[in-house]
Amino acid sequence: MKILISGAGTAGLCAGINLARAGHTVEIVERANHLRVNGSPIDVRGEALETARSMGILDAVREHRITMTEQTMFVDRSGAAVAPLAGQEISESAEDIELPREDLVNILRHALPEQAGLRFEESIATLADDGDRVAVTFASGRNAAYDLVVGADGVHSAVRRMVFGPEQEFTEHLGVYVAIGDAPGQTAPGATRVTEVLNLPGRFAGVARYRDRALGIFEFRSDPIDYDYHDLGAQKRILAEAFAGIEDWKVPELLKTAQDDPGLYFDAIAQILMPSWHRGRVVLIGDAAHCATPMAGRGVSLALLGAWTLTEELGRHGDDLAAAFSAYEQRQRPRAAAAQEFARSGADLMVPATWEAIEARNARLRAARPV
Ligand SMILES: Cc1cc2nc3c(=O)[nH]c(=O)nc-3n(C[C@H](O)[C@H](O)[C@H](O)COP(=O)(O)OP(=O)(O)OC[C@H]3O[C@@H](n4cnc5c(N)ncnc54)[C@H](O)[C@@H]3O)c2cc1C
Repeated sequence: MKILISGAGTAGLCAGINLARAGHTVEIVERANHLRVNGSPIDVRGEALETARSMGILDAVREHRITMTEQTMFVDRSGAAVAPLAGQEISESAEDIELPREDLVNILRHALPEQAGLRFEESIATLADDGDRVAVTFASGRNAAYDLVVGADGVHSAVRRMVFGPEQEFTEHLGVYVAIGDAPGQTAPGATRVTEVLNLPGRFAGVARYRDRALGIFEFRSDPIDYDYHDLGAQKRILAEAFAGIEDWKVPELLKTAQDDPGLYFDAIAQILMPSWHRGRVVLIGDAAHCATPMAGRGVSLALLGAWTLTEELGRHGDDLAAAFSAYEQRQRPRAAAAQEFARSGADLMVPATWEAIEARNARLRAARPV
């Protein structure tokens, strides 16, 4: 088949690798002018480790392993340790592999077969599925027709909007926003692998270190905010307002370096819930279909599994796309639902709403593992 994939994140690249290896003609379009590699390190967990092995990338993934979140230490307003959160409490098993997002994306990029086309600064402008082919016009003005279009364009998927309906129909806001930016002044190469976090009611400000890098991580509770999610300036303003007037610990410095980071990652912690991930010759994978949020820590694992499962089912069902898509959904849904369920308690653990809730959380963690 001639297959178009929208988005070159982990889901899109994995789909590109697997589908091209299965003998399909694959083209990937990515809206950005480069692979987007920022964000905090991510995890390959559980079943996805086996998928990484089947894809032949497990050794490379292992080589880039870091152990950033061996422990998260909650600190008080002066920076003194008050309660530890062991990494094992949020892992599935000791086999889980945490690695920098940029390393995983580069591993996938290198695994992408030569014959799979990857075009940057390109995106779908319109698509029309007539039952036999999907006619696509691109933002660049090009036109082409495909047997199958895979929407792997993330939580704000354009394919989902064009084929299934507006984003708000499928979004469940979990009441929290997240921002992750570089924190160059906070590096401690070779030193602590402890992530430090200060909680204030409804606020989380932390610093996470790995290798020679440090990241400032912010989370804050908020009702949905109306802003253009492509507008970095708006994202920085919202972040600054959420932490305005907080002078405790390292918060002002972390806020300053995040504001200076041109690659700041900012988004709502919002899940995507859809009754179906396919329509006609169009199918969604990864965050576009079932974003579980960074609170799940399973976005990349779901992306690997989804892309692999889709390829397997297309191989199994030949021309019967509807049967292949149904089988893919049947296998992928329980995984996505479990990750989404896990993430729902994340806000209470990581961003308690009141001082009382912060104290109760800390007391519980200290009882499990004294400081
Ligand atoms: C910059 C960035 C930082 C992230 N940081 C973290 C993190 O710190 N922790 C965490 O748990 N998760 C993070 N994520 C989410 C995580 O990568 C995903 O949950 C997981 O990898 C599943 O990926 P995905 O490929 O479905 O979506 P994404 O990783 O979001 O990839 C989607 C890709 O599609 C591209 N795209 C978007 N719209 C279009 C369009 N209209 N046309 C063409 N291409 C388009 C995007 O530029 C992106 O490259 C981040 C995502 C991004 C994009």
